[in-house]
Amino acid sequence: MDVKVNKKLGLKERYALMTRGLGWDTTYQPMDKVFPYDKFEGIKIHDWDKWEDPFRMTMDAYWKYQAEKERKLYAIIDAFAQNNGHLGVTDARYINTLKLFLTGISPLEYMAHRGFAHVGRQMRGVGPRVACLMQSLDEIRHAQTQIHSMSNYNKYYNGFHDPMHMIERVWYLSVPRSFFDDAYTAGPFEFMIAIGFSFEYVLTNLLFVPFISGAAYNGDMGAMTFGFSAQSDEARHMTLGLECIKFMLEQDPDNLPIVQRWIDKWTWRGTRVLTLVGMMMDYMLPKRVMSWKEAWEIYFEQNGGALFNDLARYGITVPKCAAQAALDKEHVSHQAWATFYQYGAAADFHTWMPSSSEMDWLSEKYPNTFDKYYRPRFEYFAEQHKAGNRFYNLTLPMLCQTCQIPMLFTEPADPTKICYRESDYKGEKYHFCSDGCKEIFDHEPEKYIQAWLPVHQIHQGNCFDPGVDPAAPGFNPLAAVLDHYHINQGRDNMEFEGSEDQRNFAAWRTMAAKN
Ligand code: FE
Ligand code: ZN
Repeated sequence: MDVKVNKKLGLKERYALMTRGLGWDTTYQPMDKVFPYDKFEGIKIHDWDKWEDPFRMTMDAYWKYQAEKERKLYAIIDAFAQNNGHLGVTDARYINTLKLFLTGISPLEYMAHRGFAHVGRQMRGVGPRVACLMQSLDEIRHAQTQIHSMSNYNKYYNGFHDPMHMIERVWYLSVPRSFFDDAYTAGPFEFMIAIGFSFEYVLTNLLFVPFISGAAYNGDMGAMTFGFSAQSDEARHMTLGLECIKFMLEQDPDNLPIVQRWIDKWTWRGTRVLTLVGMMMDYMLPKRVMSWKEAWEIYFEQNGGALFNDLARYGITVPKCAAQAALDKEHVSHQAWATFYQYGAAADFHTWMPSSSEMDWLSEKYPNTFDKYYRPRFEYFAEQHKAGNRFYNLTLPMLCQTCQIPMLFTEPADPTKICYRESDYKGEKYHFCSDGCKEIFDHEPEKYIQAWLPVHQIHQGNCFDPGVDPAAPGFNPLAAVLDHYHINQGRDNMEFEGSEDQRNFAAWRTMAAKN
């Protein structure tokens, strides 16, 4: 349908015509039948026109802006690839962060694309529909630009070959994946808080600003470019999430307790997923810009604190879990890396122990915890490796029913004791890593008892390829599971020292500098 726009119209009227003016109320079918989902969560909306569009962007302007960004992005990516930019990164350990990014984060961008397309269809107000449409397009752009940038590494290094297969199966990838599965099996308003608030405001800010600065610092212009190009869309996304929260709170006082519960839940879920980013920053970047703890203080405690001050006038309070997160910031990256180091035989990237100068950096950044709790363990691992006993844990850990992270976190008040919580539901026992995860389960047990937990699935025999016989003599369950994950054993996984990636990188770099 052509919309004739009179050039003499003011900006505001023009914007209204090209967005709100495109909506209509249905007559052949009742609106409630056309939009069946935007009421069942209990959120009450009285006037959809009160929705504010902070960016006042029309579709034609959107395409122009995005096309401009794409042109710059692909020019840089091409130049980086053609100049063998991958040989300019600090050292080959860095490349492992990209494997975790490509397998654990880029598929989420695609899931966000699908989620916003779905939610945009379910909102009967035109304002949020247009905003969701743009975000849906942004998200597929993020998935594509990340895959395109990192495909260059797939020509030279192991572990980049199967992200979309792995996200559905591999044990640690079920952590970010279950976050998104949880979000897009919720109603449209909860999805907006889960992604628009928790994912965009809590999570991607920490990923795209300090972590991507780290990528730039380590010489990776490809990751830097896709990261900053995505981050320029994030301003719009964060505003959308925030606008949605404010809109709900302004529409009806009954919405407050529902919104508060979602904010509490999704802040905790986002915080748990960020454990992976903490580990990437403290252990996987050879050159570090800042510690995980510092990043958490700037981007969550300070920036997030300002956000909660802003929301206080609506009656929103800081999530309870913030108190635990303030203690956890001293620990989670070390605990996660210790776990991945031990389970490095079942990962799609390499693991290693930090060098002694890197341990000194950690001591300096974590004066309260690193020397006391983690250094002795890491020095012991390193000694064992030197003596020819590189340790691999071949058992299967218990997982948290909600966040799906192995039970590796400690009690908030006692860093020497693993934190366990449990709930009984319909005659079964369920296990949790924290009070936050237990509360989320207890509120909606029917949802979380359906969780696809990788360890349970392995025990039930659901992670072997068709035709594999677990009763055959000499059956090796770990090897069969890795085959099912498409992890190439001895190439994609295990210790970094001596890996094919390490050797190739060193050889190619030497060749680049010599005749
Ligand atoms: Fe994105
Ligand atoms: Zn948990």
